[in-house]
Amino acid sequence: MKKSLTVSCVMALSVSAVSAQSLYPGMFADKIKVEAKTKSSVTPLPLRDVRLLEGRFKDNMERDARWMSRIDVNRLLHSFYTNAGVHAGKEGGYMTVKKYGGWESLDCELRGHTTGHLLSATALMFAATGDDKFKLKGDSIVNGLKRVQDTFGNGYVSAFPEELINRNIKGQSVWAPWYTLHKILAGLIDQYLYADNGTALDIAVKFGDWIYNKLSQLDEETRKLMIRNEFGGINDALYSLYAVTGNDRYRKMAEFFYHNDVIDPLKQKDGNMGTKHTNTFIPKTIAEIRRYELLGDEESLNLTRFFWDEMMANHTFPTGSLSDKEHYFAPEDFSKHITGYTGETCCTYNMLKLARHLYCLSPDAAIADYMETATYNHILGQQDPESGMVCYFLPLASGTHRVYSTPENSFWCCVGSGFENHAKYAENIYFKDENSLYVNLFIASKADWKEKSMSLIQTSTFPQDNVLSMRVSADKPVKASLKLRNPGWMKNGRGIINGKSVKAESKNGYFILDRKWRDGDRIEVTFDTELSVETAPDNKSIGIVKYGPIVLAGRLGTEGMQSPAPFSDPSKYNDYYTYDFHIPSSLKEVALNPSELKRTGDLKWETPSGIKVEPFFEVHRERYVVYWKIK
Ligand SMILES: [Zn+2]
Repeated sequence: MKKSLTVSCVMALSVSAVSAQSLYPGMFADKIKVEAKTKSSVTPLPLRDVRLLEGRFKDNMERDARWMSRIDVNRLLHSFYTNAGVHAGKEGGYMTVKKYGGWESLDCELRGHTTGHLLSATALMFAATGDDKFKLKGDSIVNGLKRVQDTFGNGYVSAFPEELINRNIKGQSVWAPWYTLHKILAGLIDQYLYADNGTALDIAVKFGDWIYNKLSQLDEETRKLMIRNEFGGINDALYSLYAVTGNDRYRKMAEFFYHNDVIDPLKQKDGNMGTKHTNTFIPKTIAEIRRYELLGDEESLNLTRFFWDEMMANHTFPTGSLSDKEHYFAPEDFSKHITGYTGETCCTYNMLKLARHLYCLSPDAAIADYMETATYNHILGQQDPESGMVCYFLPLASGTHRVYSTPENSFWCCVGSGFENHAKYAENIYFKDENSLYVNLFIASKADWKEKSMSLIQTSTFPQDNVLSMRVSADKPVKASLKLRNPGWMKNGRGIINGKSVKAESKNGYFILDRKWRDGDRIEVTFDTELSVETAPDNKSIGIVKYGPIVLAGRLGTEGMQSPAPFSDPSKYNDYYTYDFHIPSSLKEVALNPSELKRTGDLKWETPSGIKVEPFFEVHRERYVVYWKIK
């Protein structure tokens, strides 16, 4: 009991995740009222113009779609209806509505955050697939929230009482109410942007006015007290509401959430993160880059770039993930933090968002490298290929395994951001400028480049195959530049267009193919890559083995895994955080001489002792080793 109280106290200061708010300069131009003060170098191809083709990513997306479809809107909104006093069924639904558990329980102060994520995720899934059922699902959630907001009558829309906000304003203990309200506001804006839902914007505007009325008169001392509590990306969403409405009061409210104590040091190039809560921190920098985009504040840009560089240099695992037990740690203690609680998935979700903003401003191939690393090695493997359930952490200690959520009784932050993760793979594959299409990720997909009336179809099965294959589809010849990412792991790239070798210039990390493209043109890039070892920065005797950008893991079987493993135990409070992996002592350290790995098939290797080694993202429902004792 005491233990769980301690945990809840820690958690009270620290949830996680931000919502989808994929709003970047140049996107949704017809819906943006505030002209951004900065010009982006590239913009992402809109999600609706990219379709995933058969492959591992599409499989994940479809599993996510099925899982989203199973969520019952009335059950989801029951806590909102109950909170507002809206009719929720006979006798309040007491007898008729089966309640969701976990973080959506009626007694959890974060209840309602999943609704925000699903607003975003259904909008993203609708854009990514064109399937009306996600539009309809999003519409029905929005309509339910309208009933809730109309009943409150003051613009408030939430599954918990306003008293939680009052407690936050008084500096009293409460579990991150603005974090949850951020999800809802961001989800409403996503519904407007990705799914053209005007009602969602109306709700968002009234909600924004409620925020303004609630906070704008507070004094500075109160402001500083209340923003010590985790508030997710509410300022990011308020900047977006400012962008889509042009109403300056939302900009002021975004600035209200400027967290001086943690952001000011970044301006002084102070990168000491201490043991701060990682996923509370990252969204604050996303708000800063939004500020730069919208208002041209150079200081915001500089501090965000400094933060990014610090994360890449000192705080990111080779899987693209960050944090141990949700918190930063000193880089010199790195190897002490290879645990069963590394890599909260929301942190990676947020770093990918930040990466996208920075990449749009300046298409740096190193940022694209991060997108690839994090997408393959963390996000792709977040989801159990059998059940579609998702992980909170990405455990990296030898002998651990992935711990999956449960359908009815988890609804953690990473389940919420997880709904979005697998709906939006397509958003980081292609970027464009006036004359160029950047191909950043080698994921089977079809991109419609509307401005050029040209499509590019990637049919590769990378990383299974060492040939990248692409085909052009166009009604008439198009003069354009294709920029194919030339990552560091790609050795001896050989380009062939329509069967003939081409010598492509490689500049700033991209092969540039400049020509008049015709329907049916075929591009092939054959390359070599090899195994590499990335040792821990503070301990050269332990390391991760990679094949190109893909982190490999050794399969260690299921010995000692106790039911309900690999699933979380719903009877235990947030058990991912205290999970006992029951690791057999023989698996706590596994030695490897990488030169002794024997290749046994496509992306399959074996150690001399018979451990099967495969891409980490494919290793599910069993123990694994990722960090080996290097012989
Ligand atoms: Zn999370």
